[in-house]
Amino acid sequence: MQNQHNPCVFWLTGLSGAGKSTIARALHERLVAHGHAACLLDGDILRGGLCSDLGFCHADRSEHIRRTAAVASLLVNAGISAIVALISPTRTDRDFARRILAATYFIEIFVDAPLPLCEARDVKGLYARARRGALHHFAGISSPYEPPLSPEVWLHTGATPVGECVDQILQRANHIQPPAFISSL
Ligand code: ADP
Repeated sequence: MQNQHNPCVFWLTGLSGAGKSTIARALHERLVAHGHAACLLDGDILRGGLCSDLGFCHADRSEHIRRTAAVASLLVNAGISAIVALISPTRTDRDFARRILAATYFIEIFVDAPLPLCEARDVKGLYARARRGALHHFAGISSPYEPPLSPEVWLHTGATPVGECVDQILQRANHIQPPAFISSL
């Protein structure tokens, strides 16, 4: 199917375990199922390749974000939406990404869940490690997470099912696009 929408950058930020990867995958599936070109840039996967030389200190996180934004820019220029799932804990770094991607439809999505819920989910066992002191610079525990002040989309994953979260993202994407975007979704 022909790709007729303006590609977007969907930038999902939130604590570990908040639901970024889960929602990013569901959003990717929905876009692809409707014939829209999209590429998932998941922080954990990028750390296995493009960013394998980077750790979790502030400077490395900033560099991770810079590289991810640069790849997202290439994708958008090629007509492909980029779905970024990255904790991206500081406002400065997210604003930096927004500036790099200023020429695109940039949709910042705050994937919000209370810390106790994220810790109870502990999908990757990272909170347990961070509480034991085995993990440094872990956002929410041993380093700060700065919530977005005015994200384009604010999702509450403790109360909103995944499919509805995707609906909310696509509604916003439709809203900011001049031509009708994915109106069939
Ligand atoms: P993150 O990428 O933010 O670290 P993950 O997506 O890896 O988080 O994990 C989130 C966990 O929470 C998954 O086990 C997922 O099934 C669960 N979950 C429960 N409800 C939701 C929801 N509404 N949105 C996203 N994830 C949810």
